[in-house]
Amino acid sequence: MEKQGTGLRNNLKFIVDQNVGKLAKWLRIMGYDSTFFNGSNDSHMVAIALKEGRIILTKDTQIMKRRVITSGRLKAIFIETDEPEQQMRQLIKSLNLDCWFRPFALCLECNQPLVERSKEEVKDLVPPYVFQTQNQYMECPACHRIYWRGTHWRAMTRRLEQLVECSKL
Ligand SMILES: [Zn+2]
Repeated sequence: MEKQGTGLRNNLKFIVDQNVGKLAKWLRIMGYDSTFFNGSNDSHMVAIALKEGRIILTKDTQIMKRRVITSGRLKAIFIETDEPEQQMRQLIKSLNLDCWFRPFALCLECNQPLVERSKEEVKDLVPPYVFQTQNQYMECPACHRIYWRGTHWRAMTRRLEQLVECSKL
């Protein structure tokens, strides 16, 4: 009986309203598929959420009053604070998210699944000191950013762990 409910938790996908837009990047760091919605038409956001099975994250009380949400047909989470780290804490606690769900799975900018690249393939694409010290690389097929487990990434994941004390793994 280990990790009960993991299957359900793993299936979570999100659509992030622009009023809580910073959440998208944090969720992608953890590996949760998170679309950023930058339109102004709430009905459009609701339609995408229904079609793609995404949970809406928002600070908009009007959206929370919609029948599709109050009836439970579509899940939405009302984010209570303006402060991104507090927002993340609320979200991780309320949905029991896993900080180490799928590290390095998604592009932080465009939410695309990353593709593994060999060290030789990225030789001319990363700074020399990175090439010397890192052996694992991932590339975004959409924007072609190269990712590695450098200091910036480590600092962000450590911050996440501190936020929610989810370093149990
Ligand atoms: Zn990308």
